[in-house]
Amino acid sequence: MNRIRNIVILTGAGVSAESGIDTFRAGTDGGPSLWEQHRIEDVATPEGFVRDPDLVHRFYDMRRAAIQQKQPNAAHMALARLDAVWTDNLLIVTQNVDDLHERAGARRVLHMHGEHLKAWCTACRSRSAWREALFGRPPCPVCQSRSLRPDVVWFGEMPYEMDRIHAALLDADLFVSIGTSGAVYPAAGFVRNARDLGAQTLELNLEPSQGSAMFHETRLGKAGDLVPAWVAEILGGG
Ligand SMILES: [Zn+2]
Repeated sequence: MNRIRNIVILTGAGVSAESGIDTFRAGTDGGPSLWEQHRIEDVATPEGFVRDPDLVHRFYDMRRAAIQQKQPNAAHMALARLDAVWTDNLLIVTQNVDDLHERAGARRVLHMHGEHLKAWCTACRSRSAWREALFGRPPCPVCQSRSLRPDVVWFGEMPYEMDRIHAALLDADLFVSIGTSGAVYPAAGFVRNARDLGAQTLELNLEPSQGSAMFHETRLGKAGDLVPAWVAEILGGG
């Protein structure tokens, strides 16, 4: 195998699950998709926000408060270590809206689905760091309008920074997908993009994802076990 220089890592719910962070569950057998007993349509779509903004604000206020009590796990720590020492290009594209990659020390992180700890002003389009509740409609720090919403990409909305992600995939020698279901596009398509462009592809997951067949290699197990082992291997020149 050619020497690996440029790495793109996609992380999903499976990486944060071991830190005790809840995530939405896709419906099985035709049942509704739920997130903490709420239907996805109610708490994770623009239409749900228009219908009942109080419910949506309460829901994200609880999530925002909860993640601040959680701690990064061994998978976050290992990826941060890789980020710290890897001198070529590396990008951690995460579907997670928590800040555990950053709290573990990772710097090259792109939140394609937004962040719990930011608020987005629909009046002036600015984004502000945010740790408190939005339920009481606090004013935007930039324009004072009471038009803040969670800076989280909802179903039906376009993920952030797709151009930057595709540029990174174009240059990638190795694409690693960690703890994602492989069910949510466009992220589910990254493996095909990377592979078509010549990258090696590796999946680390608790169980085979919907896209497992697309990867050159799949390793099954807990992210907290698999990720530190993989990082040690790649830093060892493996
Ligand atoms: Zn504003």
